[in-house]
Amino acid sequence: MQQSVYADYNSTYPCSESHLDDLHELYRKLQGNPSSVHEFGRAAKKILEESRSHIAKFFGAEKQTIFFTSGATEANNLVVQGLMHQDARSSKDSCKILISSGEHSSIVQPCERLEQLGYCRLFKVALKKTGLIDENDLFNKLDERTKLVSLIYAHNETGCINPIPSLVEKINELCPQAHIHVDGVQAIGKMDTSWVHKSSLHSMSASAHKIGGLKGVGCLYLKSNTFLEPLIYGGGQEKKLRSGTENMPGIISFGLRAKEIMSSPSWNKKAEIVRDMFLVKLKKIPGVVIHSEGAPVLSNTVNFHIEEISGDVMMLQFDLANIAASNGSACSSGEGIPSSVLLAMGYSEWVASNSIRLSFGAGSTADDVERIISVIKQVQSS
Ligand code: PMP
Repeated sequence: MQQSVYADYNSTYPCSESHLDDLHELYRKLQGNPSSVHEFGRAAKKILEESRSHIAKFFGAEKQTIFFTSGATEANNLVVQGLMHQDARSSKDSCKILISSGEHSSIVQPCERLEQLGYCRLFKVALKKTGLIDENDLFNKLDERTKLVSLIYAHNETGCINPIPSLVEKINELCPQAHIHVDGVQAIGKMDTSWVHKSSLHSMSASAHKIGGLKGVGCLYLKSNTFLEPLIYGGGQEKKLRSGTENMPGIISFGLRAKEIMSSPSWNKKAEIVRDMFLVKLKKIPGVVIHSEGAPVLSNTVNFHIEEISGDVMMLQFDLANIAASNGSACSSGEGIPSSVLLAMGYSEWVASNSIRLSFGAGSTADDVERIISVIKQVQSS
């Protein structure tokens, strides 16, 4: 069998062998519970806090702003549900949530549920054809009832990067009472986010497995003066915001990756080189339409469709050629649901159901590009 090509790094960024070795070596010495007062507990607590400090640097912040969670899904839910519960008794019409039409399901679904339960009203901000947030629509929808504004930084499907630093300041100026949350999952470690702590933003979510760490761990960066109602009660870990014994292997992995990335900012450069090589070749294929062209896009991502070529056929051929690609976001792929972000960008149902996302990483090679391009040409000519 041919060696596999992995071009799905936005779905999850596999751990390198050296990371797994480092993690194994550290974790086997740190089996205590960080809440225990004895020496085993103290050693675990020490590495827990060191990891928190490394991760805080992503946000240009100190460690007390970082709260560990089971991933970004939980961090996003914690903000949405944690903020809204305080308004449980206020009338639905006096509380408004504003999100972009490109948010991840871990933002959309808790917001929709809270609206159904009568906690608030949910409004969605339009996207431009490029996938960028329509700023006029955003600013027009802000008002004194707006309690939460949640925006995605870099889009997991299109890779499109919103101008979050400037949007945040403008939102804060127009609507100082609103909590501004950003889903930073695809941006953390791949873009400079060290401006976050100095900005007017209140919270940002992140996930270890998008930057070569273990799955099932993430964090919420949260400014110190913000109160959130916990989702999980119990032993009071994470300053009572997230009870439960900490996921130590996950947190150590996340901390190691943060430290490595901070000391080697070009760690993902290979992904950009391969993505650019791929784009040059892809653009020469007739019928290819690349999405989010004209907007800033994550340097490892390409989202496109090919006129009259079914996404399912393409995915099948990729799979037969041992190429891992994605049609739509990993969380909804396989369910046959058209991509909501492509629909919001004004594409047809057909395009939203037949698009392909390729995302490259440190293990990508020029040979991968040749193999992917050859499958595309083969499908087109058959
Ligand atoms: N937000 C975005 C933009 C994502 O890409 C993902 C992962 N697909 C999540 C949130 C959820 O992250 P996690 O897998 O850590 O729950």
